[in-house]
Amino acid sequence: MNTPYNVEQTAVIGAGTMGRGIVISLARAGLPVLWLDNDPRATETGLAMLKQTWAQQVAKGRIDQAEADACLARVSQVTTYADLAQVDLVIEAVYENLALKQEIFRTLDDTLKAEAILASNTSALDIDAIAAVTQRPEQVLGLHFFSPAHVMKLLEVVRGQRTSPAVLDAAQALGQRMGKEVVVAGNCPGFIGNRMLATYVAEARKLLLEGATPRQVDEALQAFGMAMGPFRMYDVVGIDLEWRARQLAGVGMEAPLAQVDNALCALGRFGQKTGKGYYRYAPGSREAVHDPEVDALVLKVAHDLGVRPREIGEAEIRERCLLALVNEGAKILEESVASCSDDIDRVYLHGYGFPADIGGPMRWADQQGLGSLLGRLERLQGLFGEHWRPSGLLMRLAAEGKPLANVREGRA
Ligand code: NAD
Repeated sequence: MNTPYNVEQTAVIGAGTMGRGIVISLARAGLPVLWLDNDPRATETGLAMLKQTWAQQVAKGRIDQAEADACLARVSQVTTYADLAQVDLVIEAVYENLALKQEIFRTLDDTLKAEAILASNTSALDIDAIAAVTQRPEQVLGLHFFSPAHVMKLLEVVRGQRTSPAVLDAAQALGQRMGKEVVVAGNCPGFIGNRMLATYVAEARKLLLEGATPRQVDEALQAFGMAMGPFRMYDVVGIDLEWRARQLAGVGMEAPLAQVDNALCALGRFGQKTGKGYYRYAPGSREAVHDPEVDALVLKVAHDLGVRPREIGEAEIRERCLLALVNEGAKILEESVASCSDDIDRVYLHGYGFPADIGGPMRWADQQGLGSLLGRLERLQGLFGEHWRPSGLLMRLAAEGKPLANVREGRA
């Protein structure tokens, strides 16, 4: 790839879960990394974790001691932004809060050399709103890694309204150098992966309030082939992340679909890390054990919301969760947030544990036949309301007998 942006010296801001994985990925790709956190203890702990990770890799024979030493030597802890003045690219991975990220980008823009690329690892915030506080919006973009960042293959490269093609090229080249599966996504809430996930999880949460248990929902989707059902996934990610974000932003705490999570978090049930979430975990174990207390909590929340529970079968769970995923995917294609259906499938295969033998949600949709899919969506729309309205693109393709696989930049 031809790019005037030669990325060699990198920096990472934030030494939490994501910052650590990103630093490992950069150092493993042979890139020197300067590492800054406003809490120096976080970088200290982070460095200890890096040493441990590389020691484990040496013990498993994945790398030799010389490589582990070289990786560690590439990482330097710094304490001021002035130390970052000469870096080619910085990746910010601090808390998910727009005002905080804007403040950091202002400082980076004031301090870093003019050619430096400024990237954010935000999961869902508006890249353009972050770019807007800088004098170099064409050099700002999203680099959305998945957790743990040194293990997960997927990297969404998020193009802002003003991100230049050369900067996008440089970011893609960097992703490839790190051995990532790189997918370019447009800037919208949640980009490709998390935007689709939001509709899928919303359906899973509605099913809970209507009478399904977390275990039923997870098992139905795992039987389809998903690596993990949505509630097991939330236990791994941490139920508290969205809960804290809701509290911080002061929005969404009252939403009916947030009530089960709110109730779990009020009990300190944050997921695997606290030994309890949607499931129970024995000390030191990651095995999710069914917890009848959670079924009772879900029933109580539903009752308080005035919902009368009903029997819900596996077929309905799959139909609603998968169709929600696919309909949102079609909207994403229609809006050119993804340039082709294969990009969406790669996101779901490499970032969300979609069954590899099926090949991705959009391929699954084509296999179902868009005519059939449209009828099924219209049925759900009749039963449950307007949020099931089929995407315009799906309607058009079904009428023309074309598959989603034919679509490029919103057109078939
Ligand atoms: P985290 O809470 O584990 O770590 C955040 C770090 O940022 C902390 O070490 C904190 O000390 C540091 N920090 C806070 N304010 C700072 C400041 N002003 N200057 C420098 N450092 C500061 O968070 P995380 O889970 O690593 O998430 C970081 C970002 O990555 C968020 O935007 C999140 O949405 C995104 N993300 C998270 C995941 C995930 O699964 N955790 C996945 C993809 C993207």
